[in-house]
Amino acid sequence: MGIIIDKIPSPNFDKRPKGVKIKAIIIHYTGMRTFDEALERLCDKKSKVSSHYLIRRNGRIINLVNESHRAWHAGVSYWRGIHNLNNCSIGIELENPGYEFGYLPFSKKQMKSLIFLCKEIKKKYQIHPEWVLGHSEIAPNRKKDPGKKFNWKEIKKIFK
Ligand SMILES: [Zn+2]
Repeated sequence: MGIIIDKIPSPNFDKRPKGVKIKAIIIHYTGMRTFDEALERLCDKKSKVSSHYLIRRNGRIINLVNESHRAWHAGVSYWRGIHNLNNCSIGIELENPGYEFGYLPFSKKQMKSLIFLCKEIKKKYQIHPEWVLGHSEIAPNRKKDPGKKFNWKEIKKIFK
């Protein structure tokens, strides 16, 4: 498809609980001033945060944690009877300074890469549209990402 996924391993993951299937995709924004800062944080052992993928504004996709492992992106979270969504989800971070540092529209290249990634993930795990979620939906008191500039229609239609 012409989209290359680079690998930069993050140490911030552990095992998924036994018998838990991947059923959700959680979409985030990085909420940091620069890409480098965001990448550094996602790979810093002390931060204890990560995601499976990070998508840069130029469309570059970086795989930080193997899908079979549990990345630490959602924190305290809840959706439809399920707590701790890290157990059963793939986390995708989109480079964006976010509300705190100058919220930007997500770039076309970034969305193109996200669509590519979502299609791949859907093929592997048969994800349903109601399980493609923003961080703000599973942790509404703490989180605002990916925010109002994110085009949910474009993403949800992949899963129908
Ligand atoms: Zn988030």
